[in-house]
Amino acid sequence: MQAGDTMTVTPRPLIAGNWKMNGLREDGLALARALAERVRSTGDAGFDMLVCPPFTLLAEIGLAIDGSGIALGAQDCHQEQQGAHTGDVSAAMLNDMGCRYAIVGHSERRSDHAETDAVVESKAGAAHRQGLVAIVCVGETGDERDSGATLSVVTRQLAGSLPDGASASNTVIAYEPVWAIGTGRTPCPDDVAEVHALVRDRVAAKLGLGKGRGEGEAQARAMRILYGGSVNPSNAAELLTLDDVNGALVGGASLKADDFWSIAERSL
Ligand code: PEP
Repeated sequence: MQAGDTMTVTPRPLIAGNWKMNGLREDGLALARALAERVRSTGDAGFDMLVCPPFTLLAEIGLAIDGSGIALGAQDCHQEQQGAHTGDVSAAMLNDMGCRYAIVGHSERRSDHAETDAVVESKAGAAHRQGLVAIVCVGETGDERDSGATLSVVTRQLAGSLPDGASASNTVIAYEPVWAIGTGRTPCPDDVAEVHALVRDRVAAKLGLGKGRGEGEAQARAMRILYGGSVNPSNAAELLTLDDVNGALVGGASLKADDFWSIAERSL
């Protein structure tokens, strides 16, 4: 599927690597070059691949993957386009650097930087205004899961974090249970399927507002909904081939080219 299409076909899987605060130039470039080489030697493998290195490496990684078909993304963006925000990076700057995606609302941003749904919504809107695809992350904590609040938490986060104007071509949702991130634990496939079906339903309702449920449903069917949280080559097939799962947001395993590539292959 090309950006802008809202045909009711199953979207191509998107396999996104969130490198987090990892990678100096040498390792980052080696990883990017290895992935670019895999793509070049494989041709169209049936999935789309995205790498989100730290801000410091965006320029060099962008050059290393240029022409390979691998997309470049950032792990965050500020909600304003410029100004007195020391240490922050705007969506305009990311666009200028060749990024096509920006992750917003990752649970580590929500917890480390006290980002609320309203902040995430502003950041996603800022990404959209600069032509970037916003990867909007949602997911419950372990306590919320244990108290049976998963579906209500995800519903609330989606309602608060998706900006007006969100569509299948400018937004990807990543469902990432906080308790599964970096822990080696994952929800059972039935639980993942249940949350992803809820996400698609809530997206249809939100995107259909003022346009009609039919339009909302078409957008929701075309939108990519990623699963994230301890995805690795061993569990990728059972998690990523579920209905309503259209790829993965991968943290730790995205730092090894072979593992990341294996995950991508198992998404089909
Ligand atoms: C993440 O941080 O988005 C993530 C899913 O991490 P991990 O794959 O390491 O659990």
